[in-house]
Amino acid sequence: MRFASLGSGSAGNALVAEAGGTVLLLDCGFGLRETVVRLARLGLAPERVSAILITHEHDDHLGGAFRFSARYRIPVYITHGTLVAAGKIPREATIEVIDSHRAFGIGDLQVHPYPVPHDAREPVQYVLGDGAYRLGVLTDTGTSTTHIEAMLTRCEALVLECNHDLDLLMNGDYPRSLKQRIGGRLGHLDNETSSMLLGRLDQSRLQHVVAAHLSEKNNRPALARSALSKAMGCGDDWIGVADQATGFSWRELM
Ligand SMILES: [Zn+2]
Ligand SMILES: [Zn+2]
Repeated sequence: MRFASLGSGSAGNALVAEAGGTVLLLDCGFGLRETVVRLARLGLAPERVSAILITHEHDDHLGGAFRFSARYRIPVYITHGTLVAAGKIPREATIEVIDSHRAFGIGDLQVHPYPVPHDAREPVQYVLGDGAYRLGVLTDTGTSTTHIEAMLTRCEALVLECNHDLDLLMNGDYPRSLKQRIGGRLGHLDNETSSMLLGRLDQSRLQHVVAAHLSEKNNRPALARSALSKAMGCGDDWIGVADQATGFSWRELM
């Protein structure tokens, strides 16, 4: 199994995981043409994508999903709440409503959704597995929970939100209400909280840790790296960072 990112941050998110002949897009926050260009960078034709998994209705995750689904005739897996919040859906899009706690399979990949606290209708995040290895993805959550940690422990790879540095956010020029939303229980994970979460997990199988959904204003890649490396006891260089322009290239699990 391998995985990569098409881009990560408040302007658009999409992750891709591949095992056997199955290619899943996790979120599709880029427009149709942009998604195709970004897939091509990873050597993937859009026709190779088997399905799209959606985390929640915010535009940076859902923005391009239905059009991609309609154009390439592939299903969108989505919770009922997210579907309702999404509003108008093109007739040609194929929808599969999922239970936020129930695992299911798509081709060679197992998909395990789990609920997270975020300011959306029914947000989930996902653990993806190929039977041998598991990739845990967590972004867009205001806090950690014991359930989140039970889902992410003992994974072989983690993509973890490091949205902001709390000092940069609080001393920055965002309006007070926005600072409170981002830093609140239903907002986004800051570097320190993400680091503490990682510190509580069984890390014995970890081959990859990538920081994701970094704020361009309220964070720096070096701060995210050093927060996560502290929890791992590893060098800063070992921690990957997903950026808005290029995401990150293929990472293999073996
Ligand atoms: Zn987001
Ligand atoms: Zn969000």
